[in-house]
Amino acid sequence: MSTAFPKAAKVALGMPQLRSNLAHATGAIRAKRTDVAGELDDWEELRSTAAAVKADVQHRLPELALEFERNARAAGARVHWARDAAEANRIAARITCEAGADEVVKVKSMATQEIELNEHFEAEGLAAWETDLAELIVQLAEDRPSHILVPAIHYNRTEIREIFNERMPDAPSDLTDDPAALAEAARLHLRRRFLSAKVAVSGANFAIAESGALVVVESEGNGRMCLTMPETLISVVGIEKLLPRFDDLEVFMQLLPRSSTGERMNPYTSVWTGATEGDGPEDVHIILLDNGRSGVLADEVGRQALSCIRCSACLNVCPVYERTGGHAYGHVYPGPIGAILAPQLEPGEHDDLPYASSLCGACYEVCPVKINIPEVLVHLRRQGPHGAGERAVMGAAQRVMARPRLWRAALRAARFLSRPWRGRGHVRRLPWPGSKWTGSRDMSVPPRLSFRDWWKERER
Ligand code: SF4
Repeated sequence: MSTAFPKAAKVALGMPQLRSNLAHATGAIRAKRTDVAGELDDWEELRSTAAAVKADVQHRLPELALEFERNARAAGARVHWARDAAEANRIAARITCEAGADEVVKVKSMATQEIELNEHFEAEGLAAWETDLAELIVQLAEDRPSHILVPAIHYNRTEIREIFNERMPDAPSDLTDDPAALAEAARLHLRRRFLSAKVAVSGANFAIAESGALVVVESEGNGRMCLTMPETLISVVGIEKLLPRFDDLEVFMQLLPRSSTGERMNPYTSVWTGATEGDGPEDVHIILLDNGRSGVLADEVGRQALSCIRCSACLNVCPVYERTGGHAYGHVYPGPIGAILAPQLEPGEHDDLPYASSLCGACYEVCPVKINIPEVLVHLRRQGPHGAGERAVMGAAQRVMARPRLWRAALRAARFLSRPWRGRGHVRRLPWPGSKWTGSRDMSVPPRLSFRDWWKERER
């Protein structure tokens, strides 16, 4: 069993600046999301409709993917299919070289991070420049993103100014940590790249089967520059991004900005269908990516994870994510969605992630597409290497709890054995097999009186 998360979480918990940056940023987004979601009377109906649309997509995925391919081709796009990351990267690099380019500008995209496109390009002697501000910060710092939507959430503005001063060759010498000054420095830095790039790489938030259109939702306008200025556009799109009809966007465009940035509307929504002469890129490629998604689809409980619209609301409410940050998860998808998606996309890997949760259910409550994350977490735990042991322990506990005399005797024994720790209120370390529990959490000491005993005393 992988033990990467508990170890990495321990390291992250010892970094007070990181915890303070995360608590501040997630707290602010959380409050905004609650306010704007509360403005809509039909919020719950929107969530249910979105969940139903996504469930329909999963039932008809092959049919919808072929419909999308047919319509995108008819509109002038070239559609490629990639079974895995290696194939997608090969196709993207080949198209870039055939376009006579040795660099690309990129729109923020989780799919290209998932396949490690930047790393592949570098190995091939090609450069991939991130143009989203937060992705740019992470790339300049030679770091990894720690949040789906706010990849540089673990930095505060003073740290960002230091990164710009050290790593951005054209950063102004008098750069302050004022957010407007930092954004302006990045804008000037990126403008040259936009003007010189022949090829752009994007992902897509949605792919519309009935027309072959792709949709990118963003906040900064850098995406619009990438999607319109270069001659060649390559979009790497996970097959789960399909929506049957353009009208379905009505539901998702209300849910996504509110759930992600706490905005009623996102500032830029780009929709394009194939290629149009004299209007934007004329060489348009779409790489439809599987990379483990077919396997996820085969699991009737786990497939819910494919409904995810990458809004990151579940990260912002997760008590585990807020304390450890994204790097501890060791995967491009962190937080609650990462805990159910990573082990399914890469079976046999990341099997510690379903345990990176208190099962409090906050993620399920905020998820705009109603993914029952706790249900999938428990399902994955059962399938994991500790599944059999956990079932045996739970079965034994169930048998004891079903027999009142046995249960009372067990409680008495627990109270007696835990006497040395009563003053402290919790136990830090137990010998095996109790160490399996206390290795990553404290154990509460049973109270001096059980509820029944307390009640009896009270009645006397
Ligand atoms: S699981 Fe739900 S809440 Fe989390 S990122 Fe995906 S859509 Fe958003």
